[in-house]
Amino acid sequence: MVVKLRVYRVLLAVITICVWPSAFGQDSLITVTAEKGDGILSLLRKQGADPYEIYDDFIAMNVDNLRDSVQLYAGRDYKIPPFRVDTVAVVDSIAKTSKAIKKITGKEFAIFGSEHASVLVKSEKLKDAVYYLVSGHGGPDPGAMANYGGTQIAEDEYAYDITLRLAKELLAHSATVYVIIRDENDGIRDDSILKIDHDEVAYGGKTIPLNQTARLKQRVDIVNELHRKNRGKFQRLIVTHIDSRSKGQNIDVFFYHHEKSKNGKKLAESIHTTFQKKYKKYQPNRKYTGTFKDRTSLYLVKKTHPAMTFIELGNIKNKKDQRRILNVDNRQALAKWIAEGVLLDYEGGEIGHIR
Ligand SMILES: [Zn+2]
Repeated sequence: MVVKLRVYRVLLAVITICVWPSAFGQDSLITVTAEKGDGILSLLRKQGADPYEIYDDFIAMNVDNLRDSVQLYAGRDYKIPPFRVDTVAVVDSIAKTSKAIKKITGKEFAIFGSEHASVLVKSEKLKDAVYYLVSGHGGPDPGAMANYGGTQIAEDEYAYDITLRLAKELLAHSATVYVIIRDENDGIRDDSILKIDHDEVAYGGKTIPLNQTARLKQRVDIVNELHRKNRGKFQRLIVTHIDSRSKGQNIDVFFYHHEKSKNGKKLAESIHTTFQKKYKKYQPNRKYTGTFKDRTSLYLVKKTHPAMTFIELGNIKNKKDQRRILNVDNRQALAKWIAEGVLLDYEGGEIGHIR
């Protein structure tokens, strides 16, 4: 096995940007054995792949061999989907080659952190769309907090990580993306425990106030101001929290919108539909109980001007949800699914005049 892999790596270094199937054919798919501690991302990275590129394919190919559809079993064999060698952060000899290619093809966004800064454009589907992404809380306000095995974890760090992952997905489809709550030194983090800090600022380098009303008003004002500047363009706002208020046995993902906004409703519905499909495909035995509905009472839903959805990705205080949110593969999957819903919403176009 080891020998076989080494041969492929050498070949990879030579052929660089070649797509695997054309070079090797279907039967040359590699299979690797998961070691203790391997996650899907680390397993794919070890093979020299950009894990985010082939994540979905990996899940689809190995779905019968995964716990909760996202966890590997140590000691089992997994098929690796074909991949391109381009944006890779890799091992051995390919590392240098791929870095050189990365410079040519990827655009760099420092906000994602050095390891994730490069965004490879996949399509131009969203080139006329503008997205405002607001992760819940931040700055002096950590949001909901919980104790995880003796360590304090905070909602704002996880909402932020998922929001950055979503931003990256949307940028890959050529969207204009404003990350409204920002932490200049965190970036996308692949750890399960995300350290709590308080240095997040609002777009434009503004300090986030402690007072709740002032804090919410600040982000509302920023979004509405940008919305004015981008008048006439297709614009959407996505707010992300992990402190779901809904009570029940199965806490899932909830999408809220303004009752009077048809486009907000369509956005919420599009992401909701995408989640339903994904659950059906990847977790057929798990009942998806998420929903989407009007929640005009929420300050951000009420006061912001772009069509928007307010997403609750579970509750960080809930033990089951912690498992889901602390797992980096899950955070990536959630971001990807939201992005797919966003694409679906965009394809459906604007209902009525673009404001
Ligand atoms: Zn929250």
